[in-house]
Amino acid sequence: MLKLKGVEEVYYPTSVKEAVDLLRKNKDVAEVVGGGLDISVLPNPRIKYLIFLDKLNLNYVKDAGEKIKIGAMSSITDMINAEPLKDYLHGRVKEILSEIATELLRNQITVGGSLGKREPYSDIVTLLYGLNAKVVLSDGEWDEELGINDLYRENFRKGLKERIIKEVILEKYDTGKFFFSMKRHIRNATDIALLNEAILIEKDGNKIKNAIVAVGARPKPAYLFREATEFLKGKELSKELAEEFGKFVESNVETGTDIRTTAEYRAHIAGVFAKRIILESLEG
Ligand SMILES: Cc1cc2nc3c(=O)[nH]c(=O)nc-3n(C[C@H](O)[C@H](O)[C@H](O)COP(=O)(O)OP(=O)(O)OC[C@H]3O[C@@H](n4cnc5c(N)ncnc54)[C@H](O)[C@@H]3O)c2cc1C
Repeated sequence: MLKLKGVEEVYYPTSVKEAVDLLRKNKDVAEVVGGGLDISVLPNPRIKYLIFLDKLNLNYVKDAGEKIKIGAMSSITDMINAEPLKDYLHGRVKEILSEIATELLRNQITVGGSLGKREPYSDIVTLLYGLNAKVVLSDGEWDEELGINDLYRENFRKGLKERIIKEVILEKYDTGKFFFSMKRHIRNATDIALLNEAILIEKDGNKIKNAIVAVGARPKPAYLFREATEFLKGKELSKELAEEFGKFVESNVETGTDIRTTAEYRAHIAGVFAKRIILESLEG
């Protein structure tokens, strides 16, 4: 935090309402702090007031009947160690979380900070898109549950000057009917992804009833690849489908070129991941 030279005051509110009141009062010169990674690595010189959320009791991963609730201040490590996520979707989510960045970073990155920052390369955002997670925004008096796409409707950053992210809600999927997998293309173990892709498939026997396909680090932020969902719906899972789907994804996914790699390479990787995920689903 040594780089944060312009900061005049730090606050530790004890309720969401108090945090939001502080935020609303100081809008452009105040920022809430999750794990504090972005705020310390890329400080905004305009920020005078930091509002730490540490005292809001938002660090939890709870089994809530048909859902799992994750408090915004939970770190990736908290999620990896949480009992409700241990066997969630056959442990695939835990496995993916364990591969993100380094242990030190995983200890610091919070789910609220990842959603609030929405880095284009974020694995958490792609993962939560793929899981069809709901995000709860709160001003301390009223909570609103939104899908991730709705969270990211225009002006979401402005909206986060009026409310904070309180928690994320995951559906408990029946693994007899649902298959989930996510892949990240990285050049070395601690690298940020050149592309990431998450797919949730709802099955009816061997037929695909519904699917969610999310692609991130394109290098634009993660998006729901609706054409891929339409392609999969109603099809029988098979090796041939994996092949066709891989080609479809490569030809239709929206990717771009940046300093790290080209749009064509990203599209190719997206196709390879799509094919692999369908093949994995066949293996159960
Ligand atoms: C070197 C490095 C490598 C990384 N690699 C990866 C990677 O491979 N994959 C990956 O997914 N991530 C990775 N990250 C993490 C990612 O880039 C963000 O830094 C991280 O998600 C921010 O989390 P944080 O909790 O530290 O947020 P903070 O820095 O505290 O906050 C980020 C933004 O979100 C806002 N915010 C925080 N909490 C809330 C809340 N509850 N409600 C509303 N707004 C909120 C803040 O005001 C701020 O604008 C990496 C980060 C670093 C520094």
